Amino acid sequence: MKVVDRIKQSKSPLFSIEILPPLKGKSIQSIYSIIDPLQEFKPAFIDVTYHREEYVYKKREGGFLEKVSVRKRPGTVGICAAIMNKYHIDTVPHIICGGFTKEETESALIDLHFLGIDNVLVLRGDAVKNERSFIPEPGGNAYAIDLVKQVVKMNSGKYLHEEDVLDVAPTNLCIGVAGYPEKHFEAPNLTSDLRHLKAKIDAGAHYVVTQMFYDNQKYFDFVKKCREMGINVPIIPGLKVLTSKSQASILPKTFFLDIPQDLLDALEKCKTDADAKEVGIEWCIKQAKELIKSGAPVLHFYSMGSAEPVRRVASTVF
Ligand code: FAD
Repeated sequence: MKVVDRIKQSKSPLFSIEILPPLKGKSIQSIYSIIDPLQEFKPAFIDVTYHREEYVYKKREGGFLEKVSVRKRPGTVGICAAIMNKYHIDTVPHIICGGFTKEETESALIDLHFLGIDNVLVLRGDAVKNERSFIPEPGGNAYAIDLVKQVVKMNSGKYLHEEDVLDVAPTNLCIGVAGYPEKHFEAPNLTSDLRHLKAKIDAGAHYVVTQMFYDNQKYFDFVKKCREMGINVPIIPGLKVLTSKSQASILPKTFFLDIPQDLLDALEKCKTDADAKEVGIEWCIKQAKELIKSGAPVLHFYSMGSAEPVRRVASTVF
């Protein structure tokens, strides 16, 4: 079922999670061991991230270095199919612009359509490691909005280079896009970023999922500004339970977000990571309760390889 239809049909806030494909060569069991303990909260949908290739240098005979392209976490679409098959839960594969021509993107979307997947989260993706800025693939999509437009065209039966096909079968994908309560790191300011978000919605995206945040006020302000701009689709808050002291500095660097001073003060008093995890869980429970009270349609948890902290929060609020 489409994410937006699940939201429309539900009388209470929904629970959902994001998972990462396992590292190449590892078993899919690691995915099941995240989903199994969270099943009792009836995830409305499960997002599966996409990880593009990285370049590494391998030492070859004679001391030469060879630049090799590796994908460390392949399997997004296969995992979605496996989850749907095993748990009968809707999945949302992430699909990115980076590294794909439009033709390759189209083939990937056709696979999703044939598998009965109803949703995609459409993203630009980040720059390849060691490149300073994002470079689109020649013949690929440059921004998420371009990829939204490609999916919208397929949803209306317009495939690339196929103007005269009879009995064309359109895709019917519900399109999610990313939003950043604390601004995307490349955007010159929040207003400019919001204008680009509005353009993605105007191009046909159906809902927004936010980057994680630790200060609910940032989400509330973001939603207010979106509504003032005429963005009227569901805006799903993304939550990540903080589980160690070091994350207080890693998460801001990686995801360009602020850690509120109260949370930082509480973390600084912790002697161990186990103590810090308790602080993180308590903080997230407070966030989750307030978000539910404010009418958030879904609480979307970034599991990041660990079900237990999410389960602790969910068991208190759902
Ligand atoms: P866009 O919407 O294209 O925006 C990128 C930047 O360009 C922004 O600063 C925006 O303001 C600006 N911009 C947008 N349109 C234009 C335009 N027409 N002209 C000029 N500037 C413009 N990455 C992955 O690789 N895999 C994942 O699975 C993944 N999942 C994610 C899930 C969520 C919920 C979120 C929030 C992020 C995720 N990301 C993922 C990270 C994401 O790919 C990066 O944040 C990326 O840098 C931006 O993606 P976007 O879709 O927001 O890009």
